[in-house]
Amino acid sequence: MASSLPNQKRIALVAHEHKKPLLLAWAKRHREQLLQHKLYADGTTGSLLQQQSNLPTTRLLSGPLGGDQQTRALIATEKLTLLVFFWDPLTSQPHDLDVKVLLQLAVVWDIPMACGTTTADFLFSSKLLGQDYLRHPSLP
Ligand code: PGA
Repeated sequence: MASSLPNQKRIALVAHEHKKPLLLAWAKRHREQLLQHKLYADGTTGSLLQQQSNLPTTRLLSGPLGGDQQTRALIATEKLTLLVFFWDPLTSQPHDLDVKVLLQLAVVWDIPMACGTTTADFLFSSKLLGQDYLRHPSLP
């Protein structure tokens, strides 16, 4: 596993249906910072980010149609360095298993992950967002 996260992060943005307004509002507030990084987003989340904030993202499939698997593949191939995943713990999803495995993989690979506005604000106020970061300790 890579032991460093480069200064330009590769960030995936994903939100479940009821959480999309929160993610869109958050992304608007952080638009300038987001533009400094390479962005990925699940299908619907990505179109909304493009329409409402003019944020260019590499669009993956919609989550239930394989977007979660694509995000997992990006993590496992070290192409993703930060995950903003506003998942909805109060609504059952048709792809609940995918959601669980995505959360699990983000922890296994120890990538910074925000599941809500407050954590995302904390991550985006960190000076480490725009710097190379050497993990301590390096992952095996
Ligand atoms: P969507 O997928 O952005 O295409 O709605 C999100 C998800 O459910 O993972």
